[in-house]
Amino acid sequence: MSMKTENCIKCGNCTSQCVFLDKYHLDLSDMEARNDELSYECFLCGKCTEACPQGIDGRELMLDIRKSLIKANKVKLKRFRSIVGEKKNYIFKNYSGGRSQIALFPGCNFPSFFPKATVQIANIFKEKLGAGIIFDCCGKPISELGMEAEEKRIIDNINTRLKALGVKELITMCPNCYYFLRDKLDVEVKDIYSKLRECGIEAELPSGEYDVFMPCPDRNEKKLLTAIKSLSGESVQFKLVEDVQCCGLGGLAKCTETASADLLMQRLKDKGLEDIYTYCATCCGNFGRSGIHNPKHLLLEMLNIKEQMPKGAASLFNRAAFKFKRL
Ligand code: SF4
Ligand code: SF4
Repeated sequence: MSMKTENCIKCGNCTSQCVFLDKYHLDLSDMEARNDELSYECFLCGKCTEACPQGIDGRELMLDIRKSLIKANKVKLKRFRSIVGEKKNYIFKNYSGGRSQIALFPGCNFPSFFPKATVQIANIFKEKLGAGIIFDCCGKPISELGMEAEEKRIIDNINTRLKALGVKELITMCPNCYYFLRDKLDVEVKDIYSKLRECGIEAELPSGEYDVFMPCPDRNEKKLLTAIKSLSGESVQFKLVEDVQCCGLGGLAKCTETASADLLMQRLKDKGLEDIYTYCATCCGNFGRSGIHNPKHLLLEMLNIKEQMPKGAASLFNRAAFKFKRL
């Protein structure tokens, strides 16, 4: 079997760019040789891939290791009990408002942290396009655990339900959902920023300079970032936070590698930024929980929606409440 890291030249770039690899003094080829549960401490952020002169894809490597461990029944899944319990068959799914050609797909975390904004944005799209709304988990957390069979079941289930409702186009509000679902569903998947632009809904940031934390899934392609920029025009400048590799919630690594996740947030905190903007509700929520001053979601800023993020367990109740809402 060919090795994914057979061209590794042991330059150490991946190690120096990653808090997790650095902690254990390992590079990606060491990780491949170990082929063990340490792969669950990786944030699947993709920073190593950017840094590798040999084009080795660390994220893909770690995911493959996880999948093979799951197949061999070698993973202590107990550590991920709450995630698997909630998301394997997403307990808060609600398709009752989805019967329409176009449907919004807020995902899990946006409704958790911004329940009022979720309703307001649903109303904007309903008025403008007659869009419906669907609450479900895209399946990415389960996929990132390496549970391929479960992932397939989740995707099949979403496809079946969308077909039954007559949905032709899904608008994702979370960058994770967007990149995860876009090549997997039978319907067209669009990110909300491109859709806002396409249908001329006013969504513009006030002019000025913004410190922006890019969520991992958009870091490579920057499709969402580009759409956000083009909605806002020349008077808006983004200063990207480049040296914090992940908010700490990627790859479910926080369950196993809490210290490194906390270190990442400490690095962000140490920057002392007055306001930090992002476009992923998970990042935003984690910033808030980590005591970072004033995290803001760009979507709310663009649509001029004011909503304070909830503290502690309230986010779980918010997400649960949408199971029963009729919008
Ligand atoms: S945490 Fe990110 S940079 Fe480190 S190994 Fe995993 S994907 Fe690569
Ligand atoms: S950056 Fe690439 S070539 Fe360098 S040590 Fe890491 S995997 Fe090997």
